[in-house]
Amino acid sequence: MSEQIKTADLLDEAPDNLTIQDALGKCLQQVRNHDKILVAVSGGADSDIMADLVIRCGGKNKATFVFFNTGLEYEATKRQLAHLEDKYGIKVMVLPPIKPIPLCVRKHGVPFWSKHVSEMISRLQRHGFKFEDEPLDVLLKKYPRCKSGLRWWCNDFPQTDTGRASKFNIAYVPGLKEFLIENPPDFIISAKCCHYAKKEPVKKFLASGDFDLNCSGVRKAEGGDRASAYKTCYTQALAGPDQYRPLFWFSNADKTEYDAHYGITHSDCYKVWGMKRTGCAGCPFGKSFEEEIALAEKYEPKFHKAMLKVFGASYDYTRKFLEFRKQMKIQEKSEEPEYE
Ligand code: SF4
Repeated sequence: MSEQIKTADLLDEAPDNLTIQDALGKCLQQVRNHDKILVAVSGGADSDIMADLVIRCGGKNKATFVFFNTGLEYEATKRQLAHLEDKYGIKVMVLPPIKPIPLCVRKHGVPFWSKHVSEMISRLQRHGFKFEDEPLDVLLKKYPRCKSGLRWWCNDFPQTDTGRASKFNIAYVPGLKEFLIENPPDFIISAKCCHYAKKEPVKKFLASGDFDLNCSGVRKAEGGDRASAYKTCYTQALAGPDQYRPLFWFSNADKTEYDAHYGITHSDCYKVWGMKRTGCAGCPFGKSFEEEIALAEKYEPKFHKAMLKVFGASYDYTRKFLEFRKQMKIQEKSEEPEYE
């Protein structure tokens, strides 16, 4: 594809879908206005479309395509990266984690339920907390250096305007406090793998180059903290690269239309396994983790073994918690996982 893409040509070839046409127009503008573009690909469906969009808009020679390897990845993901390289004639740089997920989990603890829950439990555990049901002032005397964890535990943050529990309080996850009191974890919990295997490698790589645009596949429709942190598809940075989310306004239907129109092929996780969404492979934050375990067992038995070894304690504990909630007659919420 030529670098000199004309808006009219691009839109002539585009499907009759305003969201897609708008995304093409905006992406073309961003590619023209920037010289060094970072495109982080993950092997997931959104990142496949994002890479296609940037390349379609003439960004191929301005872009560096990077895959941040967490140290626990499906073979299907690796095959998808090879497919992208073949299809577009690009090189995808594979960057290692600061610490791979299995090592992080061994050293710092296993992620459980969500990032915030894991972080709060981790803080409490670091202070030897016994998961006791006491008022905040009493607990603060016992554990004076654990204020933020104890405020979470004691629901000390104000309610939201809608009357719903603040997401900074444990009450945001109904039944969790009761569960932890009755079943204190006998293993270490933490979401440090997010830090060492995902966040820090990106930060380090961005700092090592002079990128002026950083593309990510965040979509508003995916919900959760990651998407609600942004209001638009573009953020001009005061320092460092501008942030661009080319698919920000895409619905699931827009993605399907884009795929069909431009012949996008996604990884076997979607095509063969039938997953609707992929996140960090095997992460216990995924609320359909049982389905993922079964699919991995069928299609990637080696990975399946590894995921049970790394995350097994958390899967078991989550099952126990879900059962506990059932007994409490708490409806399971369809919360989105907090992948980053
Ligand atoms: S998304 Fe889950 S498995 Fe992946 S790095 Fe974060 S906590 Fe670990």
